[in-house]
Amino acid sequence: MEDLVGLCKRRGFVFQNSELYNGNSGFYDFGPLGSELKSNIKSQFRSQFIHARSDVVSLDSSIISNPKVWESSGHVGGFSDPMSDCKESKKRFRSDQLFWGPVKDEKGDIVCWVCVHEDDTEIMKKEAKKMAKKIIKNEKINVEGRTTIDISTFKDLTFATESDIQNIPSPESLKPTLTMPKDFNLMFSTSVGASSTTPAYLRPETAQGIFVNFKNVMGSSRMKIPFGIAQIGKAFRNEITPRNFVFRSREFEQCEVEYFIPPGDCWKEYHKEWLDFSKNFLLSLGVRDDLMDWDVHSGDGLAHYARACTDVTFRFPFGESELMGIAARGDYDLKAHEEGSGKSLEYYDEETKERYIPHVIEPSLGVDRVFLAIMCSAYAEDEVSGEKRTFLKFKPSVAPVKASILPLLKNKPELVEVAQKLYDELKMRWNVDFDTSGAIGRRYRRADEIGTPFCITVDFDTIEKEGKTVTVRFRDSCEQIRMPIDEVMGFLGKEIDG
Ligand code: ATP
Repeated sequence: MEDLVGLCKRRGFVFQNSELYNGNSGFYDFGPLGSELKSNIKSQFRSQFIHARSDVVSLDSSIISNPKVWESSGHVGGFSDPMSDCKESKKRFRSDQLFWGPVKDEKGDIVCWVCVHEDDTEIMKKEAKKMAKKIIKNEKINVEGRTTIDISTFKDLTFATESDIQNIPSPESLKPTLTMPKDFNLMFSTSVGASSTTPAYLRPETAQGIFVNFKNVMGSSRMKIPFGIAQIGKAFRNEITPRNFVFRSREFEQCEVEYFIPPGDCWKEYHKEWLDFSKNFLLSLGVRDDLMDWDVHSGDGLAHYARACTDVTFRFPFGESELMGIAARGDYDLKAHEEGSGKSLEYYDEETKERYIPHVIEPSLGVDRVFLAIMCSAYAEDEVSGEKRTFLKFKPSVAPVKASILPLLKNKPELVEVAQKLYDELKMRWNVDFDTSGAIGRRYRRADEIGTPFCITVDFDTIEKEGKTVTVRFRDSCEQIRMPIDEVMGFLGKEIDG
């Protein structure tokens, strides 16, 4: 993960927001390459989820809505995470990301329990050790009958084994350093207008903008159920503990579809259809199949109104976590807005002559998490001519730079001129690079490191020999072929756009 984060910064994929002012926790800026990659993910979503389907249309709703929208949807009352304050470190944590670890002495006896955050285990161990020492020194806890514990009697403190962790008591039963969890609402509030007295909210998801526009879209686009409305846009959550780079941030982007269907059992079929569709979409972006899995929610893990929810998970370097969710939400949302607004959101089915509130299937993905999954899937190292090479195996469709045009020598105007002409033609269609500086091998390496799938070199054969050929070098295999310069545009078109 550290290598990836380093590469992201060095090559201009992702920067910490407000770095100049020592950062701004939970916010990131996407640099020249990152913004291209993100934009390619979103345009793939638009083309596969919207344009390629005649049953889905798009929407771009406002980030700030009438606060009543969020009251009706249940977000004002219930969009919260459990939060605990640590009295020792004065930090705040999401209670469900904390766990209790027993610290043992050299005899294997548990001397105290410390509450640690589930982040990186090495940091956790260090922190836990520090905390344990502090707690023990201050005689703040009474563990297993010991009222005074002298830290100097322990040669070393060892940490919990897997089986110890299985038996961790609940924070409620052991609270030397933590306050009881309380609900913390994740919505950012703001105020609208000079004389407002009630708070407005930055949307924590794009979905509600779709529900409140259901009637508008249906009436204006003459869509008939089943049909979907998709939206791509920013969402904001005041996460208690943003972490794992762009995986959990406070400002992020979502791509969501609300697919409206009739009531009844048909949701099972549609849910399955969207699971397959979503997985194929992720595969088409280059997210590695062997790192993806399904997490089927059941029991407590399922929201009370949902019929089903299945997450696509990805094995990130910090652990397996949700990449996107596909939920069958019944008619919960439209009903809530019907009640809240007092206006009917019923649909009249002309074929069956029935009136009903449609149910929905909701595929919802976070662009930033997919961005990270693509980066992790693409990151590769090998050896070329005895030298270590780091490269990103992006699919051509998502690669930020599609091709790098390289005149073999920068001081030969006849080569530079031909290369420049080719670059001028290609840049009208794609984001391509023109690189003249340094030895050709170094330029290849630079292109590899940012995941440019093709390097096109103009050399003396291009200008001196019949057929005006250039070399096309493939990033992953380093293989090179010659191709007439006139065929480059068609070749790239097939490789990038399919
Ligand atoms: P989590 O359990 O990880 O907090 P969630 O279940 O609350 O996620 P949803 O409300 O289902 O997430 O949001 C849909 C998608 O939006 C998620 O699958 C994820 O890709 C993305 N997402 C949610 N919260 C964040 C965040 N803080 N940062 C980046 N992406 C996010």
